[in-house]
Formats: sequence, C-alpha cells, structure tokens
Amino acid sequence: MAAALSLVMSQTFHGLCTFHIRRNFMKHLGNHYKKNSDLPYMFDACMYEIEEVEQFNRVWEAMVKKYNLENNEWLFGLYRIRDKWARCMMKERWTVGIRNTRLSESLNVAIKNHLKLDHDLVQFFRHFNQVVDEKRHNKLIAEYEMRQKLPMVGLRQTPMLVHASETYGYIEITRRRDVCEFAVMRYDGGPERIVVFNRNDLSVCCSCKKYENEGILCGHALKVFDIVGIKTIPPEYVKRRWTKRARAGDCFDR
Ligand SMILES: [Zn+2]
Repeated sequence: MAAALSLVMSQTFHGLCTFHIRRNFMKHLGNHYKKNSDLPYMFDACMYEIEEVEQFNRVWEAMVKKYNLENNEWLFGLYRIRDKWARCMMKERWTVGIRNTRLSESLNVAIKNHLKLDHDLVQFFRHFNQVVDEKRHNKLIAEYEMRQKLPMVGLRQTPMLVHASETYGYIEITRRRDVCEFAVMRYDGGPERIVVFNRNDLSVCCSCKKYENEGILCGHALKVFDIVGIKTIPPEYVKRRWTKRARAGDCFDR
C-alpha cells in the first residue's frame, strides 16, 4: 500500500495504525512483560507522548538497553519506520487527529453486515445507502438527545470561559518588527509552548503543532490572539470540516 500511495497519491502521508502496532508489540514482546515492568509505558510514551526527536531517541535507547532488545528484529524494523508512527515525527502531519484505523474498520463491519457475496452492483449501492441512512439516523437521534439533556448555555462571559481565558499564562520573549514570539504554558503545568505571531498577516504558529496536525487552533495560539487584541478566530484558521455547516455538505477546505 505504501508503494502504491507514493505513486498514485504522492502528496499523501502514509501513517501506520497505532492500534495494530500496539497489538503487534504485545505479540512480539509479550514475553518481556513482568510484574511492574515499565516496558509498555516507555513504548507508549515513544508512540503517543514524546514530542522531541532527541527525547524520543533517549527513551528508545534506554528501553532497548533495559530490556536487552538490541537483537529484536521486529523492534528494529519498527524503529526504522518511526516517521510513520512516532508522535515526534508526525506532529506536523495532517492526520485530523486520527492515529488508528478503527473508524474505517467499524464502517467496514457495518457494510459487511448488509452485504452478500452474490449482490450485483445495483444491489450493493442499495445496501450501501441503507448503511449510510442508518448512520445519519443515529447521528440525528444523538443530536436530539443531546439537546434534551444539555442546557443551552450563552457562551459570552460564562465563568468557564473567563476561567479558560485566565488559565494560560504567557511571557513575551522577542519582538522583531511585526513578529512576536511568546512562551505560553498552563498555570497548572504542562510543557511550555512557543507561539510565533505575525502582525502583518495575523498568522500564528505554535510549537505544539495542533493546528498543523488536527486543523483546530490550540489554547496557546488562542491565548496569544487574545493578548494581541484579536477576539475572534481569523477565518483562515477555521476548517470547514469542523464547523456546524459541515453536515450540510459544506465541508471541503480550500
Ligand atoms: Zn499550542
């Protein structure tokens, strides 16, 4: 698949499903598990948490050394393709935040339940449409129930939003003409992020790369917008796929 994608969809990033990697990890290294072993935690940190390549390499080397995995071919092969699964290598990749294939697999199962091997093309699409209708119906029910159970909240000046606006702290580090750099971190901990804001084009770039990865601005960038007096999200940072209008078919970002 990787070879075909690089030929046919050369602009597309091919990542590996973290669920299947984790399952294979258990299969190949399950015998290394002991009570209180931190092997799975170290591996998970490499896959899901660590954002810097140097730190990834340090933890990976420590894990390999601690559990004598220098000669494990499967692990070595996985390391060679770390750009397809390690968070530190993927944080600027456009993944919409999806790291595993469970979503598509659950749709596959739903479609299989409606199909038979002897269906012709017309029957296939008739049954396929039934699956789609069913999904849309479920979504409608979920939305209806949500409206019944949750109070409508006016979003202006709620204590929650006031608190959120106060949660992130910042220090302005540098200012070069129209480009300002801020260090932003939550009062309750978490890593410090560097946010670069350009007054010329109102562009913002945060070191956590949430926007580049998922298409949604992070709290650090929003805090900086607030500090510099921008009180609404600039339209170029609003991906249509995440808006309420997306379900009406207007979901393609240009
Ligand atoms: Zn951020």
